[in-house]
Amino acid sequence: MKPVIALVGRPNVGKSTLFNRITKSRDAIVADFAGLTRDRHYGDARHNGRELIVVDTGGFEPEKPTGIVAMMAAQTKAAVAEADAVIFVVDARNGVAGQDHDIARYLRGANKRVLLCVNKAEGLSESPLLAEFHELGMGEPHPVSAAHGQGIRSLLDAALADFFDPEDDDDPLADGTDKPIRLAVAGRPNVGKSTLINTWLGEDRLVAYDQPGTTRDAISVPFERDGKRFELIDTAGLRRKGKVFEAIEKFSVVKTLQAIADANVVLLLIDATQGVSEQDAHIAGYILESGRAVVVAVNKWDAVDSYQRQMFERSVEQRLAFLKFAPLLHISALKRQGLGPVWKAIADAHASATRKMPTPVLTRLLQEAVQHQAPQRSGAFRPKLRYAHQGGMNPPIVVIHGNGLEHVTDAYKRFLEGRVRDHFKLSGTPLRIEFKSSR
Ligand code: GDP
Ligand code: GDP
Repeated sequence: MKPVIALVGRPNVGKSTLFNRITKSRDAIVADFAGLTRDRHYGDARHNGRELIVVDTGGFEPEKPTGIVAMMAAQTKAAVAEADAVIFVVDARNGVAGQDHDIARYLRGANKRVLLCVNKAEGLSESPLLAEFHELGMGEPHPVSAAHGQGIRSLLDAALADFFDPEDDDDPLADGTDKPIRLAVAGRPNVGKSTLINTWLGEDRLVAYDQPGTTRDAISVPFERDGKRFELIDTAGLRRKGKVFEAIEKFSVVKTLQAIADANVVLLLIDATQGVSEQDAHIAGYILESGRAVVVAVNKWDAVDSYQRQMFERSVEQRLAFLKFAPLLHISALKRQGLGPVWKAIADAHASATRKMPTPVLTRLLQEAVQHQAPQRSGAFRPKLRYAHQGGMNPPIVVIHGNGLEHVTDAYKRFLEGRVRDHFKLSGTPLRIEFKSSR
């Protein structure tokens, strides 16, 4: 699971600046769940080759900034609760403020790894000003300058120390057939995730095993269906209550992001009675960026009339056009309708995402594609595509070698993608094409 780091501190100490600095190291996917979490921002970041999630509580401005109650509003507490480590940001230029003491007191009780980050410290690394922050009792202050990008690396080193497990290193081309298919059910609140999961787990054909909670209370439910092993990754803090699973949180952005990152296949649930909303499109966009395989299930199909169905199809075309490769099925979790095809689509998506694409086959495909339609000239030069190999799975990556490949147009890239998809019958998985020019 990706570790989660929360940035907390009073207003104006530089949390948003630090957030941008940390997430900028790669093209940050900032998950925008507008309307669900007004005051928290979530971003993906990479440090030393490992991925993490950063949560910024920067939008939090107490109306009357007095006392711990106003300071540590529910949003900030929630961000701390779901974090693995907390970066407590203070302002070097202002010295220790009363509010900093309030926050420090709260954090001491929160039982989390806390790093004290003294921001705006450019040019102050030797200053006695920094020593003052020892009085917060939060350990050694880490001087950084978010604005100038100084000290960020060692701050993250300290925040993430001991966190990464070397066993998490997956071989990108390892054969995953002996492992269960990790499945996450994602979607907005009230789309029917719990209903679907309980319907599944209540079926005789599906054998669920009890499993004690694993890391950070997240449970995953292993089960078997049609001879295939699955592992359901929790997105909502599921708890077993009697015979059914109950979601203890209505919606958790962090759990959703982590589950998506950790899954092989994501089942994206959409509510037919609501149409495809912007939030659905954001979650879908995040799944696409993450490279996971995806199946879309439109739930509550029982509850919409033919006019609503038409409107729904239109909203799919408008908002989910970028997910064309994903199968879209109509179901009713409540009435147990249309669920069989969902399993087939999930199994197909997983098989597609882990398809082996041998180098000779890819290279022949490439040559046939070029014969059929050569890439456009760029000036006097025509890109030369020589051979291709598979660079990864889930998502499948095709690496194409040649010369002048930086001139290959996006349209041509899509044409190549189509040829590979058709040949290998890929369904429900993104496919990445990368170019490697040799000079
Ligand atoms: P937030 O309210 O904690 O999210 O704070 P912001 O990120 O919005 O920053 C507040 C102000 O501090 C802005 O004017 C930033 O430009 C400034 N700031 C942020 N980081 C630094 C820094 O490293 N050095 C200096 N001098 N100013 C900074
Ligand atoms: P979650 O927040 O995504 O876990 O959603 P829930 O499973 O709690 O469902 C939210 C509401 O939608 C509940 O009242 C369910 O009974 C209802 N619901 C779920 N699936 C269906 C369905 O297929 N058809 C209809 N008509 N209602 C459904």
